[in-house]
This record gives sequence, C-alpha cells and structure tokens, in this order.
Amino acid sequence: MNQAPIRNNWTLDDVNSLFKLPFNDLLFQAQTVHRQHFDANEVQVSTLLSIKTGACPEDCKYCSQSARYATDIEKEKLMAVDKVLEAAQIAKAQGSTRFCMGAGWRNPKERDMPHIVNMVKGVRELGLETCMTLGMLSPSQAQTLKEAGLDYYNHNLDTSKEHYNQIITTRSYQDRLDTLENVREAGIKVCSGGIVGLGEQASDRSGLLMQLANLPKQPDSVPINMLVKIEGTPLGNVDDLDPFEFIRCIAVARIMMPKSHVRLSAGREAMNEQMQALCFLAGANSIFYGCKLLTTANPEADADMQLFAKLGINTERGQAQTAEEQYQHEQSLQTQIVNQENADLFYDATQA
Ligand code: SF4
Repeated sequence: MNQAPIRNNWTLDDVNSLFKLPFNDLLFQAQTVHRQHFDANEVQVSTLLSIKTGACPEDCKYCSQSARYATDIEKEKLMAVDKVLEAAQIAKAQGSTRFCMGAGWRNPKERDMPHIVNMVKGVRELGLETCMTLGMLSPSQAQTLKEAGLDYYNHNLDTSKEHYNQIITTRSYQDRLDTLENVREAGIKVCSGGIVGLGEQASDRSGLLMQLANLPKQPDSVPINMLVKIEGTPLGNVDDLDPFEFIRCIAVARIMMPKSHVRLSAGREAMNEQMQALCFLAGANSIFYGCKLLTTANPEADADMQLFAKLGINTERGQAQTAEEQYQHEQSLQTQIVNQENADLFYDATQA
C-alpha cells in the first residue's frame, strides 16, 4: 500500500475540505492512513502528574490554574523529587510507559531547574519515558533538559493564530512557536496540540491543525483536548462542541500528521465508550490514563483497561521498556482487567 506523504504545505482550503467530507468517508480515509504507519490496535499510554499546581500568572481563559480566576483548585508548591518518583513508580506498575510532569508556570525559573533535572533523571532510571510541560523554555533550558534525558516536551498552540488573542493575552502565538523551536533544536521530541470547544469557529479548528502540520517538523505527539469547562473561568459557560465535530478533528489530525501519535487528552472522562471507540477508529492512538492515579482506587484506570479489553486494544511498548518489562506490564494489565471483571462475582474473605 502506498504511504501517504508527509506534507508541510497545507492550506486552509485543504483542511476545510477534509472537515467537509461525509463522516464515513473521512473516518475511512483516516483509518487507512493510520494503518499505513501504526498497528491499528495499539494505543500508547501516558500518566500525567501535576508537579506544581495553581497560582499561574498567565491568563489562559480555560484554565483553573490561572491566578486571575476564582476556581476551586488547591494550590501546591513544586513537589519534592522523591514524591514525584513515588508517583512514577505507581504509574509504571499500573501500565504507563510515559510519565508526564506538568507545572503551572509561565516558564521555569533557574532556581527550579536542578529539581526538574533530578526528576527527569529519576523517572528515566525507572525505565519510563519522560515528558514535561513547564511553559515557555529558553534555548539553554531546553538544552539542559535534553542533557538530563528528557524525551518529550509538551507545549500546545491551543487554537488558531486568528482566535488566539481571544484566549490568551499574556504570551503571544510567536512565543509558543519559539518555544517549540527551542525544544526541537535541542533534540527533544515535540508534543504539541490544542483545545477545541473554546467557542472558536470551524475555520479555527482547521487553522490550528494547519499550524501544527506545517511546523518545520510535525510534532511527534499531538494532544487534541476537548474543553473541560471550569466554573470561575471565562470559558466556564461556553456552548458545547458537537461530539461528531470532535471526532472529525481527530480524523483530520490523523490524515494531516500520519506519523504522529494523536492523543485523546483532556475531556475524555466526559466521553462515553462508543465515542472513545470512534476516536480510536479515527486514528487516536494515545491516551492519558488514570489521571487520579494518586487516589487509591484509581477506577478511571480500570475503566480504561475494560474498554481496551472490549475493543481488543493493546498498549504500546515504551521505548524505555525491555521485553521483560513489557511482559510484566502486560501481566499487570491483565490482572487489573480480571480483577475488575470478577469484582462483582467474588466475595473477598480477606476484607471481611
Ligand atoms: S500557562 Fe498553563 S497553567 Fe498557566 S494559565 Fe495557561 S494553561 Fe494554565
């Protein structure tokens, strides 16, 4: 089968035309492209940990962490390195291959960098891929993270160039493109995507995907987020996006960026199983898993594994995993699925 070429010259008309395809034609095309580059039944699984929460000086109108909005978020200082490594160990035991650490910052301060470096090194030593999202990065900070062993850096474009000023005013679109360039130049893999359902026009969704696909090198990972409406933020009451429009975004992203992992990201908890299955059919092949990992029961992770079992989806092996680790990881996932299936059938005498 001929492979779709990677294009970096998409026009808005090209992208709009993809969005206007009949739904079945669009999904068929996306699934065809997907199978040329990936195992259609494999999904990469990452865990996200907030290593510093709230009190962010930026004004992103969707975000609970901005200090400018009255939200319920509990502010937390930068976590200690050993606590981060503890969380990474749990994530690994529960099947994640990549550990993403996020801080609500405009940019990291120089005094924070030694702690950040130790987190990257420690998580890497556990055999997990590392990803960070810390805001804007200078070329030298990007270089420092690369030398520490950072695999991925997440920095989203959020929306189209045209809609951007409606959403954020404290940093420019160009600032974001500059950070992506610094990350790319340092040799770190780029994770960059956006959010839909921000009250944007359809042409803005096309514009966002056009910007991402036309970067000098397409991002390795493309998170597509559905806005999670947070009370107290300026976008807390915006109209819902039609779920079919979201699935179309996934399919168009897959067609335009055939070799990138397209990640079903924020907003997934609000999607039912059927919608998630359609997103996988449209070419999504990465998820965040068990976001409430540090709460004890972690039912979200069990629900994800149940869905994977129903759909016959396997988790993708991480680059940092050995074959033995992959085997243990599959066993641990299987155990979780079996435990969940049997939960209603067995009486656990040890708990009585
Ligand atoms: S920079 Fe990040 S943490 Fe800060 S307000 Fe924007 S999205 Fe939220």
